[in-house]
Amino acid sequence: MNNKKIISSFKSLKKIIGESKKIILTTHLIPDGDAIGSEFAMYNYLRQNGKEVSIINHSYTPDSYQWQDKKGIIKVFKENTDKYTKLINNADLIIILDTNEYSRTKSMEAVLKNSPAKKAVIDHHLGTQFDLFDVVVNDTNYPATGELLYDYFSFDNKKYINKFIAVNLYVGILTDTGSFRYPRTTQKTFLICADLISRGADPVYIYDMVYGQLNTGKIKLLGRFIDSLTYHLKGKLILGVVTMQDFKDYHSDVQDVDGFSSFIMSVKNIKAGIVIVERNNGIKLSFRSKGNINMRSFAAEFGGGGHKNASGASLPPQDPYELKENIISKFKVFLSKQKINL
Ligand code: 5GP
Ligand code: MN
Repeated sequence: MNNKKIISSFKSLKKIIGESKKIILTTHLIPDGDAIGSEFAMYNYLRQNGKEVSIINHSYTPDSYQWQDKKGIIKVFKENTDKYTKLINNADLIIILDTNEYSRTKSMEAVLKNSPAKKAVIDHHLGTQFDLFDVVVNDTNYPATGELLYDYFSFDNKKYINKFIAVNLYVGILTDTGSFRYPRTTQKTFLICADLISRGADPVYIYDMVYGQLNTGKIKLLGRFIDSLTYHLKGKLILGVVTMQDFKDYHSDVQDVDGFSSFIMSVKNIKAGIVIVERNNGIKLSFRSKGNINMRSFAAEFGGGGHKNASGASLPPQDPYELKENIISKFKVFLSKQKINL
């Protein structure tokens, strides 16, 4: 989206919000900091505008972001499917944040799609199907949905960006830029964060709340993950596996895997990193790359998606080690098809 398009999508969003009273916010499964931060920022903005707002998610909020929800605002769909289905059906507007795929709302997919409410999406991923939404605010140049929301709130009126919104937008930008180091981090990102800090976001406190609360289970899981790493293509491709047994041994769960894929990307000379996580309902794959290896295209071979340098996919239950061998051979073919010589 170019600048004109994004402004016109902001206008449409403001209009549809203005026409709505009851609004539902939701996001993708296993929400990250950008998903949760964007939900809370939008929630607060809508409340300031006198709307009735509910946040309903498929997943529980990961521990790292629970401090943002002191009031217990986020509802988890499966906790009361009937009640939340009614809320969704009675809403005027549903806003999906930080994903543009209904399927990534998992258990909520059908209810959201079938609700008579209008639908808006605010996101920075590729592949939006425009016909599935009444309003689309999407620009893949943004490093975080949080940065996109900052521009939207500024477009409406900067007065809305209070401390609570500033903190939540900062969380989104901090986490989705990998602490300001991923490629889409710009001068503008820092200027926005400077403004968020002036509005009350404390970068030291926020970093500590998000990244400085590791439990021993996660540390042990990381140890086992490091042991699982295998090195291919002269160390330019690294794969790691986390199994259900690992989770069981260390009383940890999938949220503890957050950050493992970026961790392997800090190994010298690595160009591509793949993390295979076995869960009881299937396998979660994370793909990471540097430079022009398009991991979004590679993830698509497994029915997944995402960004060029960070993508993922979900597969049915299967042996993670057999899958790993399969991924390695597919990746080699992929590289040769893309004429990439590592
Ligand atoms: P992560 O590896 O952190 O879970 O995901 C990285 C990115 O890949 C996400 O921001 C998201 O865009 C994408 N992604 C992860 N899992 C899936 C999936 O199962 N399906 C699709 N389409 N995209 C995914
Ligand atoms: Mn995001």
